[in-house]
Amino acid sequence: MSETRPFTTNNFGIPVASDDESLTAGTQGPILLHDHYLIEKLAQFNRERVPERVVHAKGGGAFGELVVTGDVSAYTTAKLFQPGARTESLVRFSTVAGEQGSPDTWRDPRGFAVKFYTEDGNYDLVGNNTPVFFIKDPIKFPDFIRSQKRLPGSGLRDHDMQWDFWTLRPESAHQVTWLMGDRGIPKSWRHMDGFGSHTYQWVNAAGERFWVKYHFKTNQGIEFLTQDEADRLAGSDPDYHRADLYGAIEQGEFPSWTLKVQVMPVAEAEGYRFNPFDLTKVWSQKDYPLIEVGTWTLNRNPDNFFAQIEQASFEPSNVVPGIGFSPDKMLLGRVFSYADAHRYRIGTNYADLPVNAPKNIVNSYSKEGAMRYSFNSPDTPVYAPNSFGGAHADPAVAGDEGLWNFDGEAVRAGYIEHAEDGDFTQAGTLVREVLDDAARERLVNNVVGHLLGGVSEPILLRAFDYWKNVDADLGKKIEDGVRTAQG
Ligand code: NDP
Repeated sequence: MSETRPFTTNNFGIPVASDDESLTAGTQGPILLHDHYLIEKLAQFNRERVPERVVHAKGGGAFGELVVTGDVSAYTTAKLFQPGARTESLVRFSTVAGEQGSPDTWRDPRGFAVKFYTEDGNYDLVGNNTPVFFIKDPIKFPDFIRSQKRLPGSGLRDHDMQWDFWTLRPESAHQVTWLMGDRGIPKSWRHMDGFGSHTYQWVNAAGERFWVKYHFKTNQGIEFLTQDEADRLAGSDPDYHRADLYGAIEQGEFPSWTLKVQVMPVAEAEGYRFNPFDLTKVWSQKDYPLIEVGTWTLNRNPDNFFAQIEQASFEPSNVVPGIGFSPDKMLLGRVFSYADAHRYRIGTNYADLPVNAPKNIVNSYSKEGAMRYSFNSPDTPVYAPNSFGGAHADPAVAGDEGLWNFDGEAVRAGYIEHAEDGDFTQAGTLVREVLDDAARERLVNNVVGHLLGGVSEPILLRAFDYWKNVDADLGKKIEDGVRTAQG
């Protein structure tokens, strides 16, 4: 053993006498309360976990870089998207419904949360590996998630509850069709696309506004697992995706994605055939072709999973000048709920943690609170405006933050229906025009297998109708498959 090893200290740098024996009153006596090092060890151990995320609890991540190779400066002033810009980045991939220890290969959307450490502060793009979502109004979100998690009495997951919710909320059909298809279980996080999913706003130097959707297209190629492969891996290798990403980066096989966007001039939104702010719909790439922005590469593993991935916080409220929000209600709900979740889960001052802190200088008047680490110099005023040289807001940013017009009446109403909207339209397009025969057959088998996992008769009947609304032939095959298996 090396003689140069350092001596252990407690958390306050005080040398400790032993990591072998606690302090007792005689060899058979009780452990003494003033063995403060033992107390510190046990107390710290009890507090090693922060609450797991209510959604997206199981995941993994890495650091990387976005290099802009295209030119989208006609659409946004955001510095990170200007030609040639290079921006350090962090990603966290995850499943949605499973808990911390759950298998990576369960059928579920994958979270695709990206942070860009830009010179104008952090820009977070908190998306999924699917371009759409199950619901379009945030008031439904807690109900949706509860229906996908566990029963209150038994603590078990329950397909009946899942299908009950989905069939009572037919706006879910597009996302459920996507999820039950091949891309519902990616082979690895490297082999899937990512989407910003929501509609965002870009503002250019002339103050013109555009609606925008983000697509990260994998350069590894799309690959997926069949249900049987995924079920086997769920038992034998529950950390399959986490290990794959870590291993690839360790070996220098840096995964990359081409970042592309769809851009819609604001004036075209009203007349578009789909409501462009409805998160259950895509914009057809035939109408709005993908425009290349750059290459996003992951090239560095975390040094500490807890500090840099578990405590990483991503929040759609982090938008930088040149980028703004849109009338997408799910986005507006998430703008509140993500930052709020972090304040609860990690603590008020989570932005002080190195992984969450921006790389540029923070000139904020926020102060104090539990575990505050950063502070302003004593001569900086604690209020604004002030006469003592403290930071002041920049009115020029107002033109750059992406606003929009809305009528002044407070209403509770659904989205305005555009010409080709409807809960089942785009799900049907996916089935009929994108999938081939073999993919359609796997979709039928995946749905039949899921429905046979304990869905009760009344909900089964609703599920058959749901699928017939997506596509009559597909629905019939699903019904026949379930009835045949039931005997
Ligand atoms: P396009 O023919 O231009 O695009 C089809 C899209 O479907 C491509 O992005 C393709 O991704 C993707 N795709 C291929 N196979 C699958 C699969 N098994 N599961 C999910 N997606 C798949 O058509 P449109 O843009 O007009 O869209 C038609 C339908 O495609 C939509 O209704 C939607 O369901 C689906 N889709 C559309 C997207 C969009 O942003 N417009 C994005 C993803 C899906 P890839 O290029 O990687 O093969």
